[in-house]
Amino acid sequence: MTSPDYVRHEHHEFIDASEQALENGTLQSILGRLGDTLGARNREAWQAFDQSDQVRERARAIKDATLADLDQHLETLEASVLSRGGHVHWAADGEAACRAVLKVLQTHEARMVVKSKSMTSEEIHLNKALEQAGVEVVETDFGEYIIQVAGHRPSHIVGPALHMSSQDVTDVLNQVSEEPLSNDRVELAAFARRQLRSRFAAADVGITGVNFAIAETGSIVLISNEGNGRLTTSLPRIHIAIMGIEKVIPRLADLPYFLKVLARAATGQKLSIYTSIVQGKRAPDELDGAEEFHLIILDNGRSQILQSPLRESLFCIRCGACLNACPVYRNVGGHAYGGVYAGPIGAVLTPLYGGLEDYHHLPHASSLCGACQAACPVKIQIPDLLVKLREQLHASHVATGRMETLAYRSWAWMLRHPRIYRSVTWFISRTLGRVKRRSGWLRRLPGQLGGWTRHRDFPAPAPLRFRDWWKEQNS
Ligand code: SF4
Repeated sequence: MTSPDYVRHEHHEFIDASEQALENGTLQSILGRLGDTLGARNREAWQAFDQSDQVRERARAIKDATLADLDQHLETLEASVLSRGGHVHWAADGEAACRAVLKVLQTHEARMVVKSKSMTSEEIHLNKALEQAGVEVVETDFGEYIIQVAGHRPSHIVGPALHMSSQDVTDVLNQVSEEPLSNDRVELAAFARRQLRSRFAAADVGITGVNFAIAETGSIVLISNEGNGRLTTSLPRIHIAIMGIEKVIPRLADLPYFLKVLARAATGQKLSIYTSIVQGKRAPDELDGAEEFHLIILDNGRSQILQSPLRESLFCIRCGACLNACPVYRNVGGHAYGGVYAGPIGAVLTPLYGGLEDYHHLPHASSLCGACQAACPVKIQIPDLLVKLREQLHASHVATGRMETLAYRSWAWMLRHPRIYRSVTWFISRTLGRVKRRSGWLRRLPGQLGGWTRHRDFPAPAPLRFRDWWKEQNS
């Protein structure tokens, strides 16, 4: 199976990648179903949950209050982990986090690592750093395993291989299977299970992400629908968990609010199948667990975001609901966004982590319809954040083309001159309004405006302006 470059590599041009995605029939049919599957389950889950609004507000309030005293909660977390015999490593950026992981591996002469799904490890490009150091890394989440074999990047926060059809998956797994595999999902999953079980037993180190870290107990919480997370934390001798600083919550009593909203938002379930609360290394009276536990706490630009007007983006609990609700994501898919995080929240996070200049298209990759905010379990005001990023782009003169500047200046001038505005709108309604009477749609717009109609039609303006209609009604 050959795949375009943008599926494998980051930092590409959003418009080019989007056009390729729009021309990919298989991807379009997969994305077309997303609103009726994950999106619909999310909406139904909120409707069926009586107290959804109160619980979502509470989860949001906990995030807000935790960020207000983040330094204290992180210090409490560190003290709790140390008191249970764990190790804590602070990492200012991705390179420092990779170095910390490699140091642990080198100390134990570890050559093989099993990993469960972790967006933070994707963010710091951990697999690449480990492979360059000669360490074998095996992804153990089924979706992550598929894209690891395919050499792709994840295309969705909770469904990393969502962009692939079942035939694509069969083709990919046949590359590593000695026997030919059929298209049957059960057979494919059984094959992956056989491949992975032996790796769990052989691995020296298990690496996981962290859904939540509880400061008062020093526990980390892992939520998944596959059993691989538990095997990753309990079979290898050493467990390394990597978290962004925003993943801490103060108390165990805060956790149920997030458990209730995360599963509903991600997959429409009341609760995910596995919720593991890992208390560091194995205690003397415990039967399983790692002999050594390391927690890597990553900043990577988050403390800057904390002090900025984009602070609310740190509320994100990585459920993926905003992706399923977004009309842009549901057309272009996750890879087009160019970074690790896709969809509406990716359009905020990727420019923040990767630089506004490199990802200047993303804050504009939204119609600001608000569907993302309605779907978000912690009610992040994503459209407002995107508008703030657009303001920053404008203020820094990044990627504002001459034509765009001219168009907005002309528009502003016209709005300051009502007579001209009235004449222009009269002319447009009298000319293009005729189209409205015929088909209602403009198939092709001229010049720069042609971008609108390259992949869709544009609604023709009404033949009667609102002001004329109003006059008619009131005469
Ligand atoms: S922004 Fe909200 S909906 Fe989107 S992934 Fe984060 S928590 Fe989920």
